[in-house]
Amino acid sequence: MNHPPILETRRLHWPDEAACAHFAQTLAAQPDIVHARLELHGPLGAGKTTFVRHLLRALGVRGRIKSPTYTVMEPYRVTGPSGQPLDIAHFDFYRFTDPREWEDAGFRDVFAQPGLCLSEWADKAHPWLPPPDVSLHITLQPDDTRELHLCAHSPIGQRLLTLP
Ligand code: ADP
Ligand code: MG
Repeated sequence: MNHPPILETRRLHWPDEAACAHFAQTLAAQPDIVHARLELHGPLGAGKTTFVRHLLRALGVRGRIKSPTYTVMEPYRVTGPSGQPLDIAHFDFYRFTDPREWEDAGFRDVFAQPGLCLSEWADKAHPWLPPPDVSLHITLQPDDTRELHLCAHSPIGQRLLTLP
């Protein structure tokens, strides 16, 4: 797919997982999180699933949070900040190979409906995937800390990156 325009960027440093959790909590408190598409980029072990877990917890998901490595998608429903139901879909497209699955498994519908979509390995589902509001690029440093490069691709994304 054509890469979406980058409207704004931010860099962060996560010295440890607590910093990742803190950022997830800050993002979960943004009103725009309830209708956003986020892509998580970075190699295996970078911390994409870990970040999603912290974000889901901060949004009120209870119980086990599985990595959708085999199922491609894990759906969640929580009560959003305004008391309305919030649908969340966590995708891992690492094993996504069959474009028919996009239609058959209802992924197109999920992206068309209101809610929060979180995608790992989005590159494997291009060109079906609609453009994200925010892409997060995680780089693992030799000292096991993480560098974050955040890109806003839409006004929703810009608002999400306007963090305190
Ligand atoms: P990915 O989904 O990118 O393949 P995972 O989230 O499954 O990666 O694994 C990342 C691992 O790194 C986890 O074991 C997590 O506890 C650990 N970790 C250490 N520091 C951090 C950090 N700052 N942010 C995220 N994960 C971290
Ligand atoms: Mg993962």
